Amino acid sequence: MPLHIDTPLLLSSQLSKLTGRSIWLKMDALQVPGSFKIRGVSHACTEYVSRGARRLVSSSGGNAGLAVAYAGRSLGVPVTVVVPQTTSQRAKELLQLENAEVIVHGDSWQEANELAVSLVGTTDAFLHPFDDPLLWQGHATVIDEVARAGLQPDAVVLSVGGGGLLCGVAQGLQRNGWGHIPIIAVETHGAASFHVAAKAGHAVQLDQINSVATSLGAKRVCEQAVQWSKQHTIHSVLVSDKSAVGACQRFLADHRVLVEPACGASLAIAYENSSALDPFKSVLVIVCGGATATVDQLQQWAKAL
Ligand SMILES: *Cc1c(COP(=O)(O)O)cnc(C)c1O
Repeated sequence: MPLHIDTPLLLSSQLSKLTGRSIWLKMDALQVPGSFKIRGVSHACTEYVSRGARRLVSSSGGNAGLAVAYAGRSLGVPVTVVVPQTTSQRAKELLQLENAEVIVHGDSWQEANELAVSLVGTTDAFLHPFDDPLLWQGHATVIDEVARAGLQPDAVVLSVGGGGLLCGVAQGLQRNGWGHIPIIAVETHGAASFHVAAKAGHAVQLDQINSVATSLGAKRVCEQAVQWSKQHTIHSVLVSDKSAVGACQRFLADHRVLVEPACGASLAIAYENSSALDPFKSVLVIVCGGATATVDQLQQWAKAL
């Protein structure tokens, strides 16, 4: 049995009316660990365990770590997650709720990741948050489900952090014979690692991340995301933090589902009827989710921005 669920595919009345086109929502916010990440993570974890891994190690205090914790508990395999001191109490509690061992180490993800990698023994598997072909294969199921439901969109809108979701969706489009369907790849201005890489034609390391959309905060995208930018039509679009947070609030009011600004960035394309949508009648938005969002936090950001 797969550890991810086949999520609802909804035609949004509110967004369709607002934009004058059909806006379809793939509701991956409803995955049990809170985001699409469980698709690829469960596929990778299952594979590593079948190859003999007896412990799973992650360095993500966000949705990737939560997905590993959930997958490990479901598979009956212990999970260790190393997170930096900056990780919220809520994220640590969510990890512990899934019985993961949480080790707090270092001031930044880089330091936590170094310790995590050093802990990986011969019978352990390390789960990268976005750069692993097994993850992409698993993420691609989001498009398989849309194809099975009988919907062929004119374009797909998704958010980009390290590019794992992008690689999965591109693979999913290709394997369903939809290689011609363009992707609108959305980031916030302060986390524009794909935007910069697609322009340069190679992955570029950003000096810093400056965005409330923390799940988009990879300083550098994976090489495969850059490769896809050369093989598939991908429009890179940037939105402000304010737009991303505003979209989360409007989405909560319209669809009663709470998501992170990382996901709000994609929703903002629809809420603001971005000119990137101009050529398209039917648009699929991947509602990628996010487990660490709270209503209070959204309100605080909305006030501050
Ligand atoms: C991980 C994540 C992203 C970005 O995905 P990448 O595979 O890193 O590009 C976007 N939104 C949410 C909610 C996430 O958890």
